[in-house]
Amino acid sequence: MKKIYFLMIFLLFSIQIPAQFISENKDLMSKEMGRYQRMIDFNVNPNTLNYDLQYQRMEVFLDPEVFQISGTVTSHFLTNQNMSSIYFDFTNLLPVSKVTYHGTDLNFQQLTTKELKVDFPASLPSNTLDSITIHYSGAPDNSGRTSFYMGTHDGSPVLSTLSEPYGAQNWFPTKQSMNDKIDRFDIKITTPNQYSVASNGKLMSETFLPDNKKLTFWRTNYPMAAYLVAFSIGNFNKINDVIGNRSFPFVNYLYPSTNANSGVMDNIEWTKTAMTLFENHFGTYPFSAEKYGHMEFAVNGAAMEHQTMSSMNSFAKSTITHELAHQWFGDKITCGAWNDIWLNEGFATFGEHLVNEKNLMNHSEFMTYLANQMNVITSQPNGSVYVDDSDLANIPVLFSGRLTYVKGGYVLRMMKWILGDEAFYQLLKDYAANPAFAYSYAKTEDFKNQILVSTGRDFTVFFNDWIYGEGYPTYTIKWNQSANLDMNFWVSQTQSDPSVSFFEMPLPVKVTGSNGETAFLVLENTSNAQLFSKPLNFQVVNVEFNYEKQIIEKNSTIAFDNALSTESVSENEVMLFPNPVSDRLNMKGIKKTSDFEIFSTDGKLIRKGKYSPSQTIDVSRLKVGAYFLKINAKSFKFVKE
Ligand SMILES: [Zn+2]
Repeated sequence: MKKIYFLMIFLLFSIQIPAQFISENKDLMSKEMGRYQRMIDFNVNPNTLNYDLQYQRMEVFLDPEVFQISGTVTSHFLTNQNMSSIYFDFTNLLPVSKVTYHGTDLNFQQLTTKELKVDFPASLPSNTLDSITIHYSGAPDNSGRTSFYMGTHDGSPVLSTLSEPYGAQNWFPTKQSMNDKIDRFDIKITTPNQYSVASNGKLMSETFLPDNKKLTFWRTNYPMAAYLVAFSIGNFNKINDVIGNRSFPFVNYLYPSTNANSGVMDNIEWTKTAMTLFENHFGTYPFSAEKYGHMEFAVNGAAMEHQTMSSMNSFAKSTITHELAHQWFGDKITCGAWNDIWLNEGFATFGEHLVNEKNLMNHSEFMTYLANQMNVITSQPNGSVYVDDSDLANIPVLFSGRLTYVKGGYVLRMMKWILGDEAFYQLLKDYAANPAFAYSYAKTEDFKNQILVSTGRDFTVFFNDWIYGEGYPTYTIKWNQSANLDMNFWVSQTQSDPSVSFFEMPLPVKVTGSNGETAFLVLENTSNAQLFSKPLNFQVVNVEFNYEKQIIEKNSTIAFDNALSTESVSENEVMLFPNPVSDRLNMKGIKKTSDFEIFSTDGKLIRKGKYSPSQTIDVSRLKVGAYFLKINAKSFKFVKE
């Protein structure tokens, strides 16, 4: 989804926010919270855990000039325990007239917890495949954040839905828990015959009926989360094309004025370029047996990644890109809880990074884009990418432009820096193809485990710092060059928020020589006031930190410091450098001859000796690996390389 993203960016960059806007927004937030607190749970309704929702068939009448839905939803379900009643997520504000089961009417109740409870005449045993039909008619629940939108375009009415996150239940009885996708869905919508209906999946038929009516039938055989079920009804031009590496349908339902706008049509044509980029970097398009497409809809300033058919209000390339990326990350793999919404929005934002870098921007434009993203992220010192339970009812926090979208996307860029492009994109492909998540759900910890499986790298510390933790680091880096041309660095950092005590990170440094030579150095920053020594073979004139904006930081400095070796280490501080070391360990802050011991990480004494100030410890014959050096009752970890 992209609506609140723009809103938040607007908020961040406006110097003065009109007071009226804030109060309206607060009002909206309190309405939403009050409303959603009536739901039994945001992520998983415990009352619907006893069945698997396998298929739904919606057969409804809709007139885009009337705020009303009437018809039936038939649900096929498989019980996983004995059931005497069945629950659906469904508003109590949209009246159910009857529930039919094998030709008979059942007792039911519409609960204020936004549930429909239906009682069976006799208990159904476990492992029963059965179905019921719910008949309802009325105005969709419009009591807070609506999911049913009426509008006009060029004087012609448009009726559309946008249910994310909790709004599917506002207009049809379903199961919106984030652990069970609806395996198949049929949407049969009857309308006055002058309108077209766009929706998920494949167009099966359009049938003209008596009384100037038309029945439009869409079917999807891909599992779908309830919030991704959507339609848009209006006066559309239908454009059928093909797209993708293996050429599958590309279907656009556009207003006539959009169709007549060559600039917009060029952007829609460009979707093919984005599709190819994503297929090459994320894997095959997930819904190619049906289609990809766009339907224009009646929600101003918004766009939404409805499965196989994104809903659009405008066609900027960034919006086209974002919604398309969601087909892999959001639709094929859906966040397993709303706390994990960054797995949808951060990934779609990273899709924008990818397209900007590879297609839309030159290098300097891309660097400017990244600088802007970084400014958004660091405009406040705190806030986590992961959403706390206490914020699940708070839609502006859930869809925080700064955290869920921009920081979520940038965190993926940092992973790309740490892993390298090849391993990173292979990771994304592995994740998108993993049968445990594909056409299903994944949580933050699932993605973290996928990184371990795909790359062998444990990202626990990284996730603690960047997903669950808050804020960003500010680095102070000093450098000089030894007579033998070795580059020496002293690195320190502060954190903007106390939730992270230290950001462990490989730091990107680019050095340039007097004859234009360049070298790219990586400082494995694992502790404060860390010293590094890197061999080099040219005289350096310029040193640049975070030269491709690989990592999130703010107000960092990198400066030449001739007195680095003495000044930068405080009187009482004991330091060991370089670390990692290849042959000789230096110590700072040891003032008299002292005994030292070197231990392996499993506690074995490897060697001992005496260290005298201004001497070094020869470690050239140690095996590669991590060790502890014990001196003056202090212990230091170092890595022999
Ligand atoms: Zn989005």
